[in-house]
Amino acid sequence: MKSLTHIDTWIFDMDNTLYDASTGALDKISYRMTYYIADLLKISFEEANVLRRNYWNKYGNTLYGLMTEHGSDPCGFLEYAHDIDLSDVKPCSVIRESIELLQGKKIIFTNAPRSYTARMTKHLGIDRCFDNVFTIEDADYLPKPYLEPYFTIVEKFRFDSHQACMFEDTEINLKPAADLGMTTVWITGKNREPKEHSPVYVHHKTEKLADWLQSEINTKLPR
Ligand SMILES: [Mg+2]
Repeated sequence: MKSLTHIDTWIFDMDNTLYDASTGALDKISYRMTYYIADLLKISFEEANVLRRNYWNKYGNTLYGLMTEHGSDPCGFLEYAHDIDLSDVKPCSVIRESIELLQGKKIIFTNAPRSYTARMTKHLGIDRCFDNVFTIEDADYLPKPYLEPYFTIVEKFRFDSHQACMFEDTEINLKPAADLGMTTVWITGKNREPKEHSPVYVHHKTEKLADWLQSEINTKLPR
C-alpha cells in the first residue's frame, strides 16, 4: 500500500468518479453518440452501436475512432453527444467537503469536452473546488489511456508526477499514471466483479470516492 503523505497534487477523472454514473448519465451520452454515428454514416442504430463499442475498445473512446476512421469534426460530435439532462445526477456533499479539505493542487483530468465538464461540475456544486481542468480539447482529442495526455497535463500544470495521486473508475487509465510515478486509486463502483488480485498499477481501491476520501485522507493526513 503506497503512502500518501508526499502527495501535493490530486488528479480526478470526472464521469463515474466525481459522481455515480448508475443514474444513467453515461448511458444517455452513449445513446446520443450511437444516434449521431447512425445519422453520420447512414447506418442502422444497431450497426452504429457495434461500431461505437468497437471504437471504444480499439481507440479508447468513440470520438478518436470517428476522427481516425472517418475524419469527423470533433466539436459537432461532442456537443451533440453531451447535450443531456443532468437532473438525475445527484450531487454528493461529502465529496465536495472532502475535496475542499485536501491540501495541494486539485485538477480534473477527463476525456469529456470542456463545456460538458463545466456544466457537470456546476451541477455537482464542485466547480470551484479545482485549480485546473484538463479536458479532451487540451489533449488534442487523444484520450486517456494514451500516454501523451499524461505527459501534457504534467507539463501544462507543472507538477511532479511522483507527488501526484490520481482517482479513476476506468482501471486501465491508471496504468500510464502509475508508469509516470503517480499514486493511483481505482474507484470500483458497486457493480464491478471483484477481482482477486488487482494489477500492480492499482495502488488503492475503493467502491466510492467519498468513503475513501473521508477515511484515508481526512483521518490520516496532516492538515
Ligand atoms: Mg470515468
